[in-house]
Amino acid sequence: MFRNLLVLFVAGFLLASCTTAADEINIYSGRHYQVDETLFNEFTRQTGIKVNLVKADTDQLIKRLELEGAGSPADLLITADAGRLITAGSLGLLQPFHSEMVEGVVPYPWRDPEGKWTGMTLRARVLVYHKDRVQPSELSSYEALAQPQWKGRVLVRSSQNHYNQTLMASIVAALGPEAAEVWARGVVNNMARSPQGNDRDQVKALAAGAGDVAIVNTYYMGLLLNSSNAEERNIAAQMGIFFPNQADRGTHVNISGIGLTAAAPNKENAIRLIDFMLSDHAQRMLSQENYEYPITVRVPWPEMLVQWGTFNPDTIRLASLQPHLQEAMFIFNRAGWQ
Ligand code: FE
Repeated sequence: MFRNLLVLFVAGFLLASCTTAADEINIYSGRHYQVDETLFNEFTRQTGIKVNLVKADTDQLIKRLELEGAGSPADLLITADAGRLITAGSLGLLQPFHSEMVEGVVPYPWRDPEGKWTGMTLRARVLVYHKDRVQPSELSSYEALAQPQWKGRVLVRSSQNHYNQTLMASIVAALGPEAAEVWARGVVNNMARSPQGNDRDQVKALAAGAGDVAIVNTYYMGLLLNSSNAEERNIAAQMGIFFPNQADRGTHVNISGIGLTAAAPNKENAIRLIDFMLSDHAQRMLSQENYEYPITVRVPWPEMLVQWGTFNPDTIRLASLQPHLQEAMFIFNRAGWQ
């Protein structure tokens, strides 16, 4: 924690000392991927606009935007979750912007109706199962994980995790709060262990025999299958990927996205970067390097994603989950989902 604060402080000093130059933008990012930086460098080479990047935990970045207020040097907030962009927007930390690129290539469920943020990539939250112990025919939906045959077999991370919070908000939207709570209690009752670790750790626990089915974002499987570590590749090879809820609303899909900050001192440059990240080239890079789904249908999926198969996504407008985000936390707490 202290180290994070120190990093923020130092980075803040560096940003504050260079905000007078014209051709630059300041990005606060909760994403920690090399491909992002590769793309920012390309953007700078093409446009001459310098990118100053602060990477930190998304909730810390949102707090920092609140503290900085109108004096914030930040132009863009990048997150790995729609819920955080919705929250930043509702706190007044983002402003609407107009981009023909966003309106042209980003399907409406994945962008803000008020135009304060847009999705950049898609991430499907799927069921990953151990092929020796589960047949795909036994799987159907998130809801079915609460059924008795999964007692002691379900692996999922903590309710503190943003991906789970937004998934729960989507379940509240689909089923209502009472049914969502019944579901959460059922999953807690079926957990193989109390929630721990990240999505990748759930897959490793499957390989270790701790459980049989896990809730995981697909790109973690891509990262494991392409890992430089042979053991990780071996672990991932034992797993199958199942897209839940194909018979009804579709698999829950979250976004990584970008919002324009309310105080953005370099607004035009910031919108140019948003457009660049939505270009076919950047979309291809993001999906090839990070195994996320392109947000635009103009870019074909990389081979690995094609192999996983096509699926119907839940096309609920992510912005409409706003009233359910807080309820999701109450449900997790009441259900005892740590
Ligand atoms: Fe992630």
